[in-house]
Amino acid sequence: MESKVEILIIGAGLAGLTAALHFLKSGFPVTLVEKNTYPHHKVCGEYLSNEVLPYLDWLDLNLSSLAPVAIHRFNFSTNDGQLLQIPLPLGGMGISRYSLDHYLFQEAIARGCQMIHDTVVDLSFEEDIFSLKLASQQLIKARIVIGAYGKRDGLDQKLSRHFIQKKSPWLAVKAHYEGPFPDDLVALHNFEGGYCGVSKVENNKINICYLVDYASFKKYKSIPEHRMQVLYQNPHLKKIFEEMSPLFDQPITIGQISFEKKSIVENHVLMIGDTAGLIHPFCGNGMAMAIHSAKLCASAVIDYLTSESSSRTQLERGYQRLWNQNFGSRITAGKVMSGILRKKQLTSKFMRILIKYPFLMSMMVKKTHGNPIMTDQV
Ligand SMILES: Cc1cc2nc3c(=O)[nH]c(=O)nc-3n(C[C@H](O)[C@H](O)[C@H](O)COP(=O)(O)OP(=O)(O)OC[C@H]3O[C@@H](n4cnc5c(N)ncnc54)[C@H](O)[C@@H]3O)c2cc1C
Repeated sequence: MESKVEILIIGAGLAGLTAALHFLKSGFPVTLVEKNTYPHHKVCGEYLSNEVLPYLDWLDLNLSSLAPVAIHRFNFSTNDGQLLQIPLPLGGMGISRYSLDHYLFQEAIARGCQMIHDTVVDLSFEEDIFSLKLASQQLIKARIVIGAYGKRDGLDQKLSRHFIQKKSPWLAVKAHYEGPFPDDLVALHNFEGGYCGVSKVENNKINICYLVDYASFKKYKSIPEHRMQVLYQNPHLKKIFEEMSPLFDQPITIGQISFEKKSIVENHVLMIGDTAGLIHPFCGNGMAMAIHSAKLCASAVIDYLTSESSSRTQLERGYQRLWNQNFGSRITAGKVMSGILRKKQLTSKFMRILIKYPFLMSMMVKKTHGNPIMTDQV
């Protein structure tokens, strides 16, 4: 069976769903292909920066119905527990991906998105048209294809993307808990080989999510053993885990997380969200970047489709330029900070400086975050 569509998005995560809602709001029909069903939990720190609020408003989305928690304080500790506390002037919210992604998914369907539950397994581009093959053997032709399929997928191999050839040594673990923890705080506690984010989400639940270098994790037999031997060396983490009761039977995990540079456009597919680039999670800005990149991409595509003189090359170059302008320096800042945190001696020196001059930490937070997303040029 073969069908034809104008705009097709691969992946209905935060980026894909936001782009779909943008097209629908602007009067463009859109097709989304998603391999998973909703709702489901995702490995994520679940801290969403408030920079997205004006844009979510423009999309007529009201997250208050999901009862997110307002977060305005940030605590940061080193492996041995030295603590730095700063306010977060722009702030953010704690909201589970279980609720947020499901809400956007339902909104996209309610507003007329064509949702196909399937996996895109291959794609090619010839004579200005994409041909996509789904796992069900269905074939779809599309004029525009947006890649929003997350951090890593078989499609990256098919597209021979450069980053996929490199090793990705990171593993992430996440679960929800109940116990004592302030509503308005996001904490980032370091430990040997990684760091752990703790903050509240809706319904008084606490999300604990950590990223660890696989080489240091594999020395231990299990997640509980690694936690007790390594994470508990940080007194803040020991206290948090000892006071909390897990709400999941088992934590959920993902592996092979790559922070390598990615191409923003590959074989004419416009990449958004993590498919275009992943910022170190301690920056707490990946979700905002996924949402913002969806806006940049959807606006560029709409300009292309409505302007008779614009070429595909102009669309691709224009989008890449916008992406780099908005996110290039944030990703670099995240990488530099992550490099410092991974070096024990550097971290203690760095921390002594930060404790003496906490405004430096506020500057670093600013460097990895964007300003509120403007909607006047949409
Ligand atoms: C450990 C960790 C902690 C994090 N913490 C935070 C945080 O606190 N705050 C923050 O802002 N960001 C955080 N992030 C980053 C954030 O989770 C991501 O940036 C965000 O999820 C990106 O959304 P996305 O839509 O690009 O990808 P995803 O949400 O992964 O969506 C991709 C979708 O594509 C689908 N898909 C994949 N392949 C195919 C295919 N072939 N065909 C069809 N469908 C497909 C998937 O099923 C999925 O639904 C964290 C990341 C990690 C790893």
